[in-house]
Amino acid sequence: MYQFRLCLLLVFSTIVSLQAQQPKTYASSEIYEAVQKLNVLGSVLYIAAHPDDENTRLISYMSNEVKARTAYLSLTRGDGGQNLIGPEIRELLGVIRTQELLAARRVDGGEQRFTRANDFGYSKHPDETLEIWNKDEVLSDVVWAIREFKPDIIINRFDHRTAGRTHGHHTSSAMLSMEAFDLANDATKYPSQLTLTETWQPTRLFFNTSWWFYGSQEKFEAADKSNMLNFDIGVYYPTKGMSNNELASLASSQHLCQGFGRLSQRGSQQEYIEYLKGEPLENNDDVFSGIDTSWNRIEGGAAIGNIMTAIENNFNFVNPSMHLPQLLEAYKLLQNVKNEHWKTIKTKELKTIIEACAGLYLEVSAQNPHAAPNTDVGLKMEVLNRSKANITLDSYKLSTLQNGISKQMALPANQRLNFDENINIPNNSNYTTPYWLNTQSTLGMYSVTDQNLIGLPETPRAVFVDFNLMIEGTPITITKPVIHRYSKPDKGELYRPFEIIPVVSASLSNEVYIFDNDQQKEIEVIVRAGKNNIDGFVQMAYPDGWTVFPDKQNVSITNKGDIQKVIFTMIPPKNQNEGLITPMVNVDGEFYTDELIEIDYEHIPFQTVLIPSESKVVRLNIKKAGTNIGYIEGAGDVVPESLRQIGYNVTIIPPEDISPENLSNFDAIVVGIRAYNIVEALKFKQKYLLDYVKEGGNLVIQYNTSRGIKVDNLAPYDLKLSRDRVTDENALIRILEPNHPILNFPNKIGIQDFEGWVQERGLYFPNEWADEFTPLLASNDKGESSKEGALLVAKYGKGNYIYTGLSFFREFPAGVSGAFRLFANLLAAGKDDKMPLKN
Ligand SMILES: [Zn+2]
Repeated sequence: MYQFRLCLLLVFSTIVSLQAQQPKTYASSEIYEAVQKLNVLGSVLYIAAHPDDENTRLISYMSNEVKARTAYLSLTRGDGGQNLIGPEIRELLGVIRTQELLAARRVDGGEQRFTRANDFGYSKHPDETLEIWNKDEVLSDVVWAIREFKPDIIINRFDHRTAGRTHGHHTSSAMLSMEAFDLANDATKYPSQLTLTETWQPTRLFFNTSWWFYGSQEKFEAADKSNMLNFDIGVYYPTKGMSNNELASLASSQHLCQGFGRLSQRGSQQEYIEYLKGEPLENNDDVFSGIDTSWNRIEGGAAIGNIMTAIENNFNFVNPSMHLPQLLEAYKLLQNVKNEHWKTIKTKELKTIIEACAGLYLEVSAQNPHAAPNTDVGLKMEVLNRSKANITLDSYKLSTLQNGISKQMALPANQRLNFDENINIPNNSNYTTPYWLNTQSTLGMYSVTDQNLIGLPETPRAVFVDFNLMIEGTPITITKPVIHRYSKPDKGELYRPFEIIPVVSASLSNEVYIFDNDQQKEIEVIVRAGKNNIDGFVQMAYPDGWTVFPDKQNVSITNKGDIQKVIFTMIPPKNQNEGLITPMVNVDGEFYTDELIEIDYEHIPFQTVLIPSESKVVRLNIKKAGTNIGYIEGAGDVVPESLRQIGYNVTIIPPEDISPENLSNFDAIVVGIRAYNIVEALKFKQKYLLDYVKEGGNLVIQYNTSRGIKVDNLAPYDLKLSRDRVTDENALIRILEPNHPILNFPNKIGIQDFEGWVQERGLYFPNEWADEFTPLLASNDKGESSKEGALLVAKYGKGNYIYTGLSFFREFPAGVSGAFRLFANLLAAGKDDKMPLKN
């Protein structure tokens, strides 16, 4: 259970016109483009590290102008970072970003690949990245992508020569690409892959440079470009009514959870790639120079090329079905081609063209969006030929059945055929869930052992139907996944994938349960039925030292999809302790321990994710002084909820309500992350906050980024923010002032309180401050100088001003005990009469 179900402060609205799951249909201009693309046998692989790294202008140009088969290999799924449109973080964010990449590729015409690398968060240097990733596994996956995709050209987004200039993941992607370029053709490297594919030598490797890598436009203009190719990526596509860069903007605007919605661009614009290695360029304007990208490339291809070129040159936009006899001729020739790689790719493309030219409509819609194994589901099939071509439906075969179902029915022009089938989902079916989340991952890697799955953007659909057709005497099988088609009065027709889900799933209402004393707490378990008539019971797995009662709670749910809530009572141990709890639901003698998470956004297909249902329970040894806390929200964090969990009274203070009278009610005022970057009103309210301190108040400010601070007087004394951060969450903490009250009251803070931190120590630490400040802690990442700005305190008037870049906002949701104890001390500053804060 990685989803934090607490408040969401950022509301983001989007308008996406195209429903994500609608089956693709082809207008004749699109069929024409597909024919053009069919006639190009060249390929480009673009390599970078994250969703949004990819230059969609270049991917779109390669795919739509050059007509090459183009793919983006993103080493990670972008699990790190923040989600601007919903509560999903980490693995679930990776699921969304995977789908956003696929949505971007549906726009720019590219394909999508991944490796098993996990986006663990920011890293400064590739050395750090490659230590956390399993370098050999990621390299193996890049080699696999090259052997499997077989690109002629590889283009790196980042420069392999400038470690430390950008995110360590970025430089690593370029370095691994350079290495893999040399290894992919070496049969002694990763030989087990060669049972499934062949070695491959890409012809050349480029770096997609730009002025950014040179520091300025002027420097780039002055740079030597003799080793570079450039393209006008602003070309206009009349068949689309759009410029390439306009299309590219639409593609990158699919990255909505990263806030990438943007204005489109038009008009001529140059894009540069720098030659790095491989066969030298013969002429300086063709990325494919020396490579035959026509049908002549493969044995038996010339005859296909002749047919397809004739179709391209005389394309009938009014009635593309006129081309069916020639297309079928090409299809038959293609089946005799020996080159399996191009045969597979081009057969798929050609079938799509044939299907589109015939105006075929083939659909299999399940009556329910999901079903559990060993249950029945009704299917509605629609088969329609919207051309005058002579087509018969010989049979169809459901993937759940051994044998096909014979039909031998003619498909007269525009006469729809409908069939109903009832299928039983086999007992051994895999659940519909992202395959890379099936096994416990590490910080740096997802664990996937099936080589056939590695690199795939998503889990192949388990339930599909093969339609065996005879088109003008040529047998062609067209496969369709089972979908669920439905309508909503306010949305119209909708589609979503058909999914296989467990008989029952369970979730806990919190990700972390904090016990700040020895009082018992109630734990709510939400049980959800994946089929009708569930009868069973729930038991709780919990750590030693804790007590849960009752032992069992019965559940009985009549209707699939309904939920039932049951409550357990949990008693913590006397002393500090933590562990995991898991609800286990027993139905028909079998235990189910997964939680079902649904991800529903309009710009991507509906996603179902199964992950182990577990929450952390923490018994804190914590003392508090002062309970009334005022919170001024910033960019959104869960600190208020976390403080409430440990017994504070937290009041959110809207900026307009910041007044001397209001502030005086609180024992401490806490300012949320990046508030001074985004809350305009603080410009006028900062005076009141500083006056509050002067009069004896206690102000705790969490991190802000160093640029774009809205106030001139962030602190009562000089304080300069920097980009200093400590990204290693285990970096040693040195306590500079062990006797300082903040580290002693009411909790004695020691080095053990910095154990078990997650993601990072902190960020945007101040690097210069007035003498009035006392730095309490020092830390640094490997190989860097000591950073002492993580926690600064100053006496001002009768009160206390505290600035901290420590990542409390990340530690609280993870239930990190020491972070809670230290924060309790920040809130108690000045409340210990015996130990007044020294100046
Ligand atoms: Zn990136």
